[in-house]
Amino acid sequence: MASPPSRTAVAILGATGSIGTATADVLQHLGAPWKAVALSAHTRLPELAAMCQQLQPEMVAATCDHAFQSFDKGCLPSACQLLAGPQSLVEIAQSPHVDTVVAAVVGSAGLMSTLAAAESGKRVALANKEALVVAGNLLSNAIRQGQGELIPVDSEHSAIFQAIQAGRPTEVERIILTASGGPFRTWSRDRIASATVEDALDHPTWQMGRKITIDSATMMNKALEVIEAHWLFDLPADKIEVVVHPQSVIHSMVEFVDGSVIAQLSPPDMRLPIQYALTFPDRETCPCPKMNWSETMRFDFEPADRDRFPALELGWEVIRGGGTCGAVLNAANEAAVELFLDGQIAFTEIVQGCRRILEEHHFSPNPSLEELLRLDRWARQEIKRWASLV
Ligand code: NAD
Ligand code: MG
Repeated sequence: MASPPSRTAVAILGATGSIGTATADVLQHLGAPWKAVALSAHTRLPELAAMCQQLQPEMVAATCDHAFQSFDKGCLPSACQLLAGPQSLVEIAQSPHVDTVVAAVVGSAGLMSTLAAAESGKRVALANKEALVVAGNLLSNAIRQGQGELIPVDSEHSAIFQAIQAGRPTEVERIILTASGGPFRTWSRDRIASATVEDALDHPTWQMGRKITIDSATMMNKALEVIEAHWLFDLPADKIEVVVHPQSVIHSMVEFVDGSVIAQLSPPDMRLPIQYALTFPDRETCPCPKMNWSETMRFDFEPADRDRFPALELGWEVIRGGGTCGAVLNAANEAAVELFLDGQIAFTEIVQGCRRILEEHHFSPNPSLEELLRLDRWARQEIKRWASLV
């Protein structure tokens, strides 16, 4: 009998981020034969160099040309091959030395390398949900054609991936994505309208990068996750639901046709879904805290409020719209979040801007990669133009 392909040579794209560092932690916990063979970072290159000293990868990539120029290359281990520029991520994703690519770059900057990993038949442990939102169709095709695997890292999708194994695809009635509700879950509409950057970055249950933390505050993150679930599990918009669960312990649920609901629970810690994406179908001991069933706990559920969080609706709208909608929404959101973090637009203008750009864009039902990339650039410019007018 043929042995399963090796999965243990891991590239961490976006190694210095919240998911990247958690992945490094998981690999150190798993130990040999697991190994980080390649790491990348955009700007925090001294941190990248420190990770290289610890993990001794074969390859390291610095994607921001500007940061690369002032980087002291002498702090890297001598055996480590240094690559530079955005294209280096694709080179790593295609490398025969890499079995598994942890796609942990934030935003559509991670798209090309995620596609390259899929085309090269790698296991893609996907944190970079934006890649699926922008080009779900192309990425799904690339996985099929390259005979690779796409395993979710996002905690909700990992939960669904685990729970869905309890039945056949035809037996799935709907999936229910849980949402923490973010820092503004209990805030009134007026109070949300005057939210500051500091308020929005204060997430109640998860420590994450700045972009996804703002996405959680607007609940755009959940809209992106609805779209992500559509592509990962091949489900139509009306089989995907969202419920607010403030404790972030029940990571999501699958309801089958007989009414049985299967959920996955664990204390909120991304190292568990990261590790499962690496070791699937096997399970290994994990460095994460476990549930403590000897203490009193409560799990609350609330309907998601689409009035106070108008971003949510965009998730289902984009699935139904298809074509270029995901790429435009994603780029508009990325640019709007940057503008908000820069103090140039108000919190509620993030979603207003996204909706406007989405409605204004030149829709195409079956876009090529070039078309998607062109629209990504267009939406970023348009949101800046719109922001200078509001
Ligand atoms: P982060 O900001 O902490 O890290 C981002 C990483 O990407 C860094 O290593 C950075 O150097 C790199 N990067 C940034 N811009 C880049 C560019 N233009 N080109 C190449 N590399 C670039 O982000 P994060 O919170 O770790 O999130 C990473 C991805 O994982 C996102 O898509 C996010 O939605 C997803 N995700 C994160 C969490 C979480 O708990 N943090 C949970 C679920 C999903
Ligand atoms: Mg998530």
